[in-house]
Amino acid sequence: MNDNKNQCCWKSKYKPDSCSRKALDDSGYCLFHKVNKNEDEGRLFWEAINFDNESVNSKDNPYADLIRHHFVECYKHGSQYGNFNGFVFPKHKGVFNYKFKTLNPRDTFHFIENTFENDCLFDNYDFGNNNVEFIDVTINGIVSFEKAIFRRRVVFKNTNLLTYRSAPGRWPFFDTVFNGQELKFIGGSIYDIFGIKLSENTDLIIENAKISDLRHADTDEGFIFPEAETYRIAKKQALRHGDFNASSKYLYKEKEVTRKELFDIFRIKFKKKNNITGNIARWELASKYLFEKDFYEVLFKFLGESIKKYIIGYGERPARALLASLFIIICYGVAYWSFRLHTPNESPDLWKSIFFSIVTFTTVGYGNIIPTPGLGEFLASTEMISGVTFIAIWTGTIIRKMTR
Ligand SMILES: [Zn+2]
Repeated sequence: MNDNKNQCCWKSKYKPDSCSRKALDDSGYCLFHKVNKNEDEGRLFWEAINFDNESVNSKDNPYADLIRHHFVECYKHGSQYGNFNGFVFPKHKGVFNYKFKTLNPRDTFHFIENTFENDCLFDNYDFGNNNVEFIDVTINGIVSFEKAIFRRRVVFKNTNLLTYRSAPGRWPFFDTVFNGQELKFIGGSIYDIFGIKLSENTDLIIENAKISDLRHADTDEGFIFPEAETYRIAKKQALRHGDFNASSKYLYKEKEVTRKELFDIFRIKFKKKNNITGNIARWELASKYLFEKDFYEVLFKFLGESIKKYIIGYGERPARALLASLFIIICYGVAYWSFRLHTPNESPDLWKSIFFSIVTFTTVGYGNIIPTPGLGEFLASTEMISGVTFIAIWTGTIIRKMTR
């Protein structure tokens, strides 16, 4: 129990942050922190958030005193004006429309540990010249920032922006303008950033945030690729200011997501074409693929992409080509050794075989060790060809990475 029964007992889970307002009732919470507000309290809450001086000062407003007490008076100190930490936003028909005339320029809007019991609507809202932080926010309804304007840094951390599902046809960031230095998604999840408007200077940073994957839209448009699209936008933004490390990271993710989606798209298309509905065993579905010409096209494409991934990391991981080369050298070496495919081979010597493999792979060929006729020559030839190819791939990739 709180020492002072009259004070709101809300406390931040992480920060030494508490509430200095008076408790509303036996719940021990103030109007803003109380969970499950009744209808009147809900109305009062929103009136306080969206207050304008006129309505607060008007004698016709029966809530004027309460609003003043709960909000205006409690927020006398400049830096507190953008602090919404721990507020429990009740259901509301309208949008968030807090007028922050008194918010200090460059101050931060804090939405930390908030709960939106229903929708989280910031449509058309102008966040002014302030940073914005959404951290550990729980949203139980729709999320929408349509046509909202952010002019400085924005962080969404451990916040699930996934609830678009409940509102088909609405995109959380449609026509949302971000002009600040960065827009960060850390942890949490994103449903889609379709329609987002990033300024040239805005970095889109995605760290460990889950993005919803492929969706099949039952329209002529066909498929929606939120994940690949999001990484593509992040890559493009990074390239705009020459951040090649970031662009390389996002390119890799974009390619990887696209590779994984190849089969998903094929499966969905196949099921639709053959009128297969409902659940069908994987093996049963797979057995039907064998008679489908398109399947082989997808399979080869997938294999090709997989080779690109594992051998050069889509051109972004030269070290992988080096590792793959070592692996090949060792495999060939072991083959020469176990089948005695080179001379002199008086006594099998694994190191000598590996050395022969290296000499062959790099096409140096000292000539002191030579392959045996037939199988030995054949294997050595294939190793030379793969050696030339791999060295070219490795050189190309590393030079490309080093020179940009
Ligand atoms: Zn409180």
